[in-house]
Amino acid sequence: MIRWNHGADGVVVLTMDDPGKGANTMNDLYIASMAATVTRLEAEKETITGVVVTSAKKSFFAGGDLKDMIAEHPGVDKLEIAARLTDRINGIKKVLRRLELLGKPVVAALNGAALGGGFEIALHTHHRIAADVRGNQVGLPEATLGLLPGGGGTVRTVRMLGLHDALSTVLLKGQRHTISAAVDLGLIDDTVDSVEELIPAAKAWIAEHADAAQPWDSKGFSIPGGAPTDPAIAQNLLVTTGLLRKQHRGAPAPAARAIVAAAVEGAYVDVDTADEIETRYFVSLVTGQVAQNMIKALFFDLESIKRGESRPTGYQKFTAKKVGIIGAGMMGAAIAYVCAEAGIDVVLRDVDLDAALRGKRYAEKVQTRALNQGRTTEDRSAALLGRIHATADAADFVGVDLVVEAAYESVEVKHQVFQEIENIVEPDAVLGSNTSQLPIGILADGVVRTEDFIGIHFFSPAEKMPLVEIIRGAKTSDAVVAKVIDFVFQIGKTPIVVNDSRGFFTSRVIGAFLDEALAAVGEGVNPIFIEQAGAQAGYPTPPLRLMDQVTLTLSQKIRKENQRALIAEGKDIRHHGSNAVMDTMVGELSRPGRAGGGGFYSYDDAGRRTGIWPGLRDAFASGTTRIPFVDMQERMLFAEAIETVRCFDEGVVTSVAEANIGSLLGIGFPSWTGGAVRYIDQYDGGLQGFVDRARDLASKYGSHFEPPRSLVDQAARGDRTFSLTHRSISNQQ
Ligand code: NAD
Repeated sequence: MIRWNHGADGVVVLTMDDPGKGANTMNDLYIASMAATVTRLEAEKETITGVVVTSAKKSFFAGGDLKDMIAEHPGVDKLEIAARLTDRINGIKKVLRRLELLGKPVVAALNGAALGGGFEIALHTHHRIAADVRGNQVGLPEATLGLLPGGGGTVRTVRMLGLHDALSTVLLKGQRHTISAAVDLGLIDDTVDSVEELIPAAKAWIAEHADAAQPWDSKGFSIPGGAPTDPAIAQNLLVTTGLLRKQHRGAPAPAARAIVAAAVEGAYVDVDTADEIETRYFVSLVTGQVAQNMIKALFFDLESIKRGESRPTGYQKFTAKKVGIIGAGMMGAAIAYVCAEAGIDVVLRDVDLDAALRGKRYAEKVQTRALNQGRTTEDRSAALLGRIHATADAADFVGVDLVVEAAYESVEVKHQVFQEIENIVEPDAVLGSNTSQLPIGILADGVVRTEDFIGIHFFSPAEKMPLVEIIRGAKTSDAVVAKVIDFVFQIGKTPIVVNDSRGFFTSRVIGAFLDEALAAVGEGVNPIFIEQAGAQAGYPTPPLRLMDQVTLTLSQKIRKENQRALIAEGKDIRHHGSNAVMDTMVGELSRPGRAGGGGFYSYDDAGRRTGIWPGLRDAFASGTTRIPFVDMQERMLFAEAIETVRCFDEGVVTSVAEANIGSLLGIGFPSWTGGAVRYIDQYDGGLQGFVDRARDLASKYGSHFEPPRSLVDQAARGDRTFSLTHRSISNQQ
């Protein structure tokens, strides 16, 4: 896969081009090819003036072979797998180390993205030149998949940037950097404006640096900033680990620990030993459960969604040209911003011009901040804002090909606002509502073109949250589902498609999490204990704090509406310990949540949390009930996982990938689990283990933990995972 071109100038250009593959990855072919190539470079060294490594693909190199990393090895001992992996990775690194020590200048010419293992190849060269073209990026995103850069990236970034900067700017967060940001960080040495200029620039550098070597292979090298024994660095490391503790708050985060350990331990020793230490930590992560969970969800599930697995086939790609937004409140304003940022013209309508302009002011505020921070230019910013047209006039919806309604959460209001514009927009415009929980079928009754009506559910804050939940009503056409999926990709977000039901998928599942915390308050469990259990289970926001943000009044209103609807349908209402707590908080205690002056927490005049509201302990005899910590954690996790199974049983969700990604990106299900379904799959003892524990929780905390019939049957059949029988949405259609 590596083409060899030895020019008259003595420079060998190595072009990586895995035949038949869209991208280069660290597979068996790469390993064999790179080994043979380096051996040949060494053999022909006397005829060589320098080496350029580049790629014939769109990207430079895609990174490690993740399929290989999650491959099952039935019957093989875990230690045996770890030993094999260690040999393989050390083998890959030794070859690159030989390239680094060739004794001739080696340049990486980054024609496209170099992430993870791809960037680690580049880190083994003496000079990195990148084409600063649209979409090009570099970085070491391993941490986001529960891994660490194990191909020499940890060792080398520490030696290039110093311990503190390497950890805080590159390794721990795992961000992808634009080329200009990478230059500022010191990860890229030079840039050119086009791919064509890369090789000439690389050759020019080689001509002037015949004796190039890595700084760490040069005499007198010391790590920038100092070694870990340096008091200033040691102090800095304490700050870094303190920040980490604050960030993870006790949640399972093996990657963060391993990254710090590999970086610091590696900094005490020479490069070759550091490389081996790094491998050891990498292997400990990749053979562990958390990385397996995260890779499967955040790489493979996400990929399958990006490939459009839930998109009905046979429909042309849709590109929205003019989006009409009804309601310029908190959600409408942010959705308008997101669309304008993606280059789409937006009409933003509210009851009067003042209200609409208030909505647009939100975009203006975000842009002012971006300008002040140098993240945009005056021209770009003015163009973006120019795309948002604030109005009170329905006639301005002429030409709109996609509507997102974000007016008040009321069937009457929503019916009315759609009637006002239905005959003005394009005859085949998508009629989308951002409702959080009103059934799409009922809302669709208010329009003539019911097949064009659909739920387009954004999460707050819409400009940051990456997920959009698309709700297909009973009458929504496939063509419209396909259009909205395309629209969600157009604005750079990730879609999941679910079927119509009260609360859809995400609101139902997150509700189960919050209910469990509230019920525990009512049982007399100490609220601090509940919050800590939530944090250590890995929830980004502990439950009572989140409940205060969502507001108890809103949740109570939704619960009551749902109950009324269930009674009307002749169905049973599920009683839950959370109901009484919510009613007491909203009613006699007047603690509706943060926006209403306070809830489970107290807030100062500036809205800052000051601590658990002291009255809470008296009201609920907090601390009189003690339950095991792990029970409190698993009550929340199981409640959400079981609600997810119910959503499958009722046909609300139909794809494992979407359930995992929806729970991770939409509602903060702990990322170490790999999602609400993967949590079941990976539970100790597999499906049967999950069923047994659910029954145990049911005996202690209520019948809502009884595992659904479908799950019990699956476990009885001997299925090891839930995912096995619920593959993808296309299976179900
Ligand atoms: P909001 O109260 O901040 O904004 C609603 C806006 O709609 C107001 O500006 C109001 O003046 C306007 N409006 C009301 N009637 C109108 C009419 N007839 N014509 C034009 N505009 C009208 O509410 P929000 O929080 O932005 O929520 C809007 C919708 O989004 C609701 O359906 C809500 O359930 C849903 N939603 C909210 C969130 C959230 O976190 N707030 C999340 C997802 C979905």
